Amino acid sequence: MYNPLLKIIATLLGIVLNIGVAIPGNTTTIQVPVPINQPSTNEKSTPTQVQNPSKSTQNSTKVQLPANKSDKRIIGTKRTIEDRVRQRVRSLPEVSSAVQKQSSGNVTVLAGDPSVGSQVIQTATDLIQSAALPIIKTNLGLAPGNSAFVVLFSSPRTYGNSLLRAGVDNSLISSITANTGGLTINSTIWIPLYNLQDQSDLANVLAHELTHVVVNQYGIGNTLPTWVNEGIAWRDGLMAQEKMNPNVVAYEMRALSQEVGEAKRSGRLLPLTATESDILNSEYNVEYQDFMAVEQLVKKYGSNALQTFIQQANKTSISQDFEDVFHAGIEQFQDSFTQTL
Ligand SMILES: [Zn+2]
Repeated sequence: MYNPLLKIIATLLGIVLNIGVAIPGNTTTIQVPVPINQPSTNEKSTPTQVQNPSKSTQNSTKVQLPANKSDKRIIGTKRTIEDRVRQRVRSLPEVSSAVQKQSSGNVTVLAGDPSVGSQVIQTATDLIQSAALPIIKTNLGLAPGNSAFVVLFSSPRTYGNSLLRAGVDNSLISSITANTGGLTINSTIWIPLYNLQDQSDLANVLAHELTHVVVNQYGIGNTLPTWVNEGIAWRDGLMAQEKMNPNVVAYEMRALSQEVGEAKRSGRLLPLTATESDILNSEYNVEYQDFMAVEQLVKKYGSNALQTFIQQANKTSISQDFEDVFHAGIEQFQDSFTQTL
């Protein structure tokens, strides 16, 4: 699954982001649909984060993501809170944007504020076309069937204001803006660029969140067990990131595996069916555990079986669908997986 040959593609993908200039005039309002429910070597020394425009006196576009930052960092811990918040937020409000770019596959990338320039929108569009959508297609045999929207934010201030407009509780805003990497409601994705380390990180988030979009559009977002939904999104995200920065993915996977192993040894390991409050209070990355479970399914039954399961989910019941494809009870798998860790 983690093909070293992808390094070549990573080189091709190594687009260096220059500072872009926002296109003046021609402001277009995009109607975001209202949802119904839901190192190699790292040569360059580059900025660690997107600049916060509120602290800048420059008027030019301020967002930039380094092509490839570091091989020793952990990004995966950021998503748990936001993935849970999406269960409470019913819709994401419309976003007006002066800079927009339509990619293939029905996905439109938009600026969530004026400091997100055309360069980073182009980079996101390229990553969607070259990494995220092909990986989702290969892994799940699915693609966005309807319009999807990716909105990029440059600062905690603009992201937080938009979250407030979306109805997110005020008490959660600072935690979400500080610690999360992406939010998907139905077919709309919001991404806080300033929390991302580099372009490989953006590739990860795009593939992860677009997996949620595809699953939502396929009508199984609320049908799949959470561990399957998050596990397949993590799998797609890591594979997209690996195309650009295999070393950081290897490092991250080692570290997160150790975390899960330590939780097991100390008796803190949660079952795959853990409740939301258990997950939020856990001291390790539960979504990585979800990913490990999906990986075990693929190793044991093959990637085609996973694809069949996703495509046939919702036919009868998830328990029956699981048994039809994997010839084992889902509860039996959930229990035995935890024991094998
Ligand atoms: Zn997720």
